[in-house]
Amino acid sequence: MRIVLLGAPGSGKGTQATLLVERLGLPHISTGVLLRDAIKRGTKLGLAVREITEKGELVPDDVMSDLVRERLGRDDVAGGFILDGYPRTLEQAEVLDAILEDLGRPVEVAILIDVDTDQIIKRIELRAQEEGRSDDTVEVLRNRMRVYQEKTAPVADYYASRGLLTQVMGTGSREEVLERILSVLQVGTAS
Ligand code: ADP
Repeated sequence: MRIVLLGAPGSGKGTQATLLVERLGLPHISTGVLLRDAIKRGTKLGLAVREITEKGELVPDDVMSDLVRERLGRDDVAGGFILDGYPRTLEQAEVLDAILEDLGRPVEVAILIDVDTDQIIKRIELRAQEEGRSDDTVEVLRNRMRVYQEKTAPVADYYASRGLLTQVMGTGSREEVLERILSVLQVGTAS
């Protein structure tokens, strides 16, 4: 299955992606994780994107295209993938379509995890204490939310217009949200 997960920062996308990976045995492709890893290792890419991510801005589309094209070209995605954090702009959605068309493996389903803003702010404050991510401060979060509304929310409409989007309520426990997603994917939850 080829799945795109959409949702605001703190919507639980990353958590659900991890649970889905365990459940479905698909590779988890998180652009946030790829970028944080590059920053940690001090690669050329990491040095180029560090400041941008710390401000909660988006890394330029062309930089992201190269990263995602390379990752999606690897053998392990032949059986499907869970894409988390990409696409984040309409241009990225178009680039993704082009990459996947070349590979003959189009997106099959886009799932939008829906959580209201108040709850997101509470969750991110908690994550800031637990994980200490440098972009999880109140000020940067506000910027990430604004960027999300402006640039990423239209991506959901893009998939909706193609009949690929399903919205899932992101409130409740992580298991409850997982069950909702699995039922959208029509994967049995009894096992
Ligand atoms: P969250 O899930 O909290 O939104 P991510 O871990 O997905 O955060 O991404 C962290 C940061 O990495 C983003 O705020 C952005 O700076 C950068 N980033 C990740 N994915 C992309 C992307 N597709 N395009 C541009 N920048 C990105």
